[in-house]
Amino acid sequence: MLAESNWKEIKDAAIELAVLPWGATEAHNYHMPYGTDIIEADHFAAAAAKQAWERGAKLTVLPTIPFGVNTGQADIKLDINIYPSTQLAILNDIIEVLNRQGIYKLVILNSHGGNDFRTILRELGLKYPKMFLSSCNWYQAVNKKEYFEHPGDHADEMETSLLLHLTPGLVLPLDEAGDGKEKKNKIKYFTEGWAWAERRWSQVTEDTGIGYPKAATKEKGERFFNAVTEKVADLFVEVCKMDAGDMYE
Ligand SMILES: [Zn+2]
Repeated sequence: MLAESNWKEIKDAAIELAVLPWGATEAHNYHMPYGTDIIEADHFAAAAAKQAWERGAKLTVLPTIPFGVNTGQADIKLDINIYPSTQLAILNDIIEVLNRQGIYKLVILNSHGGNDFRTILRELGLKYPKMFLSSCNWYQAVNKKEYFEHPGDHADEMETSLLLHLTPGLVLPLDEAGDGKEKKNKIKYFTEGWAWAERRWSQVTEDTGIGYPKAATKEKGERFFNAVTEKVADLFVEVCKMDAGDMYE
């Protein structure tokens, strides 16, 4: 954890991989904190990096970026938006440092659905050809249906369970939560996954949540957290081991 490390530890350390957790600051239904995605990013990054470190991976976790792309939530109070072009600028600067110092592997650990780093990493990949640039969405690492009863993608049963496990003092009693009911687009093609338009959040949900949260428990959260952590740790180990000049078989 770079933010908790000192120069004595870092100056001669052999580091092959930098992990950059990336969150968002936004309302999460009535019952969860604005920093939910940050808290998740912090905990997954720390727990997965610990496992990877213990398996011999030479990696460091950079401090979590707390703001994400929230262009669809402009009218929700204090949801803080940064533009994709700002993310490009931030990533360019961080990657320039890594590239100059010979740390040629980066994994972005993404915690927020509005962040999409793929096109940005395509662009920066051409600019920094020695760098191996990658991203992962922890919330897609395992099949949620095996852990939770109700589907959703924001302040849902999954996120509520995670926070009940990680930071229970920051979650209101679940009878104070909204139902997270989502209105669907009248044009069915936008719900099929192949056609896309940004959701206008305040028209889609009344409580800012998407997904019924009230079946959440800390036990479900712990089980899911452990499964995701193990898979993310394995990704970190594999990327550390990998020869970027010989990736395919
Ligand atoms: Zn979230």
